[in-house]
Amino acid sequence: MATRIDHIGIAVQKLDPAVEFFRDRLGLPLKEIKELPERGLRIAFFQVGDTLVELLEPLTEDSQISKFLATRGEGIHHMALSTQDINGKMTELTTAGIRMATPTTSIGAEGCPIAFLHPKATFGVLLELIEKKI
Ligand code: ZN
Repeated sequence: MATRIDHIGIAVQKLDPAVEFFRDRLGLPLKEIKELPERGLRIAFFQVGDTLVELLEPLTEDSQISKFLATRGEGIHHMALSTQDINGKMTELTTAGIRMATPTTSIGAEGCPIAFLHPKATFGVLLELIEKKI
């Protein structure tokens, strides 16, 4: 199903010091920084081979990342697996009784359809499916 790990999302309190660390200390190439006000997020993308590292900073107190930081602290928030056919995969999973955290797809930060599986169905990992035709 999954062709590769598309990205790993890391929740951070403040984006700037985290960007400095990943770019200047680890030497990862910064691809872009994006603000998504409708989701209350500011995101930095680093390209690491075929995979992106995505740093997620909350801009509002009611964003998903604020809630995550309040209960779990900074750290890995989710892992995204790419799929060629997100709707087909979701149908297959829900038919098998696997719970989705998002019942329908939405458009993610990279402009591709995304959906999340519920962590209770995935051994505690918030798994994102992302449809990329590559
Ligand atoms: Zn993601």
